[in-house]
Amino acid sequence: MSAVQQLTLHLPAWIDEVVDWQKVYQNDEEKMALAVELSRQNVLRGSGGPFGSAIFDCASGKLVSVGVNRVMPLHNSTAHGEMMAIMLAEQSVQSFSLSADGVKRELFTSCEPCAMCLGGTLWSGVKRLVCAATADDARAIGFDEGPVYDTSYDYLKNTGVEVVRQVLRDEAKAVLDAYLHSGGTIYNG
Ligand SMILES: [Zn+2]
Repeated sequence: MSAVQQLTLHLPAWIDEVVDWQKVYQNDEEKMALAVELSRQNVLRGSGGPFGSAIFDCASGKLVSVGVNRVMPLHNSTAHGEMMAIMLAEQSVQSFSLSADGVKRELFTSCEPCAMCLGGTLWSGVKRLVCAATADDARAIGFDEGPVYDTSYDYLKNTGVEVVRQVLRDEAKAVLDAYLHSGGTIYNG
């Protein structure tokens, strides 16, 4: 077998059935409702773990990208919902930074990020991070969030990232619980 030197990451085919790319989102609840719906559909359709994310242009309320967890289908431990949304947004704006063009963008995620995704959030250049379910909600069903500390969040805030937590938490937590009860694999518990 020759050495592998390239990979492709892709969202599931159903994304366009769920996402209205033209919609202008008015507030945090509307934006988070999309992230949570993506997490719910990912579980219902069996296309990955119970996590969804979306990145928006803060000023216009327009959607830039979405992501769902693709760890198991893509055989990729880094294919978390947040990372998928970040990578696709950066591809969309053709930059490794989601703020280099002076436009403020924000990441909505159905669950507080793991250690990798909190780092990914920092490097992405988004200026707001909005979370639904808590890290403890994820831990309660067996997921390991890794080394995430209060000081990790302080670091983000000190670099100018606004952090908002527990928007639509109950709705997002219900998806986590449904995933567990449906027998979903806890791949890094
Ligand atoms: Zn993650």
